[in-house]
Amino acid sequence: MTTPHPDNVSPARSPRDVPTQRACLRCKVPFQSEGFGERVCPRCKGSAIWKSGSPPRGDGGRQR
Ligand SMILES: [Zn+2]
Repeated sequence: MTTPHPDNVSPARSPRDVPTQRACLRCKVPFQSEGFGERVCPRCKGSAIWKSGSPPRGDGGRQR
């Protein structure tokens, strides 16, 4: 029996913002997304440079 958690359901939340399976934007591999904001699988997040708010910077490769 699956009992839905009433506390987890919020009217302010978007209907799409629900934990479901999504394809990773990096490796295109379907993974269990926690919400709409979760677009990258945890594997890519851990291995690749994925810091929200901090754009990837070159290691001094390009200067000017
Ligand atoms: Zn991935």
